[in-house]
Amino acid sequence: MKVFKFGGASVKDAAAVRNVAEIVKLYADEKLVVVVSAMGKTTNALEKLTRAHYHHDGDVNALLQELKDFHYSMIEELFQVPHPTLLRDIETSLIEIDWAMEEDNTKGFDYLYDQVVSQGELLATKIVAAYLQSASIPALWLDARDFIKTDNNYREAKIDWVQTVEFSQTVITKSFLAVDVIITQGFIGSTSENHTTTLGREGSDYSAAIIAFAMDAESVSIWKDVPGVLNADPKQFSDTQKLDAISYQDAIELAYFGASVIHPKTIQPLQNKDIPLHVKSFINPKETGTLIASGIMNMETIPSYIVKSNQVLISISAKDFSFIVEENLSTIFNVFALHKVKINLMQNSAISFSICVDNGDKIRGLILALRVEFNVKYNKDLLLYTIRHYNQSTLDKLTATKEILLEQKSRHTVQLVVK
Ligand code: ASP
Ligand code: MG
Repeated sequence: MKVFKFGGASVKDAAAVRNVAEIVKLYADEKLVVVVSAMGKTTNALEKLTRAHYHHDGDVNALLQELKDFHYSMIEELFQVPHPTLLRDIETSLIEIDWAMEEDNTKGFDYLYDQVVSQGELLATKIVAAYLQSASIPALWLDARDFIKTDNNYREAKIDWVQTVEFSQTVITKSFLAVDVIITQGFIGSTSENHTTTLGREGSDYSAAIIAFAMDAESVSIWKDVPGVLNADPKQFSDTQKLDAISYQDAIELAYFGASVIHPKTIQPLQNKDIPLHVKSFINPKETGTLIASGIMNMETIPSYIVKSNQVLISISAKDFSFIVEENLSTIFNVFALHKVKINLMQNSAISFSICVDNGDKIRGLILALRVEFNVKYNKDLLLYTIRHYNQSTLDKLTATKEILLEQKSRHTVQLVVK
């Protein structure tokens, strides 16, 4: 059994959905679990809708109408004849959005968000499953909430692995007795009380990995609009190269430091069970893409570049210029944990401690809290470069024209904070 994942871009319009069917047909003699994300920019649209309703800052009806129009026109393009069961299923999803918004707001924004935003994946999979069936592919739609079980940390739910493994094995194994292709949602799950949860933005890759782990899948393939994992973002670098094969370790490092090609949580479940991950092009599905697996040697690895923009470098020193030692560090880390700010890079000298973080709405509060006990200086609008498998010449080329504020090197990785 293989797990496939198709993201929003791979189902963004009718032509893209037809292409998914073509790819699935290439694997006609395999059992497949196909994980699908919300179509195109639907998740962003649903986020906007949730905010408009909750904070009264937007036209709820207009946003809802846009969402309906998008999905109905997709259906119209995909099906020559009316499809009453599909239309009824779509109607159900839309009604569930209405119901979620009619509930009182006592459970808070994050709860509402999950009930509304999850419908993007439900809508997408209903359409894709119906289309595959109409293209003579024996596909069955499954509700991922029946087997992806989580805690109730809405918008960033944690997997209940014991239940997820048990339920996946039961539900998916039984379904495979009847069909060869299962279509299900990425990104969503449910609590023990069957409230819908989501796993964090771009979480569908992670869903594919969870299912692969639970089912001991042979492999996972993530189908993308790029030929595989590239050594840099083609929007930022001119001569990028595709990496043919990388280790789990490299994939984790690249994803963690901001390479957007794979969700950072995806690798760990796969690595635990030694399940290979393919990143492949849905435009050229027969090309090999990138293989991420164990036993891949990094002898002559191509340097990979990741750039994170909008960084803030915060320098912290004690008000009495005392050394930055254990007690100070523990206070500092506490403040970061309390404000839920993720540290991208840190470095300390005798009397100062520097931390690089993403800029965002939490930073003001963080700095105010740090200033209670420390002198704090900060620098905004910086870039954080991470170069995995760097060598001196790539480093020299990159830094020739830039002012470096902080540099940190390990054996395989160099990180630079630059203006
Ligand atoms: N649809 C969700 C998002 O856009 C999940 C995903 O695409 O992976 O964040
Ligand atoms: Mg998406």
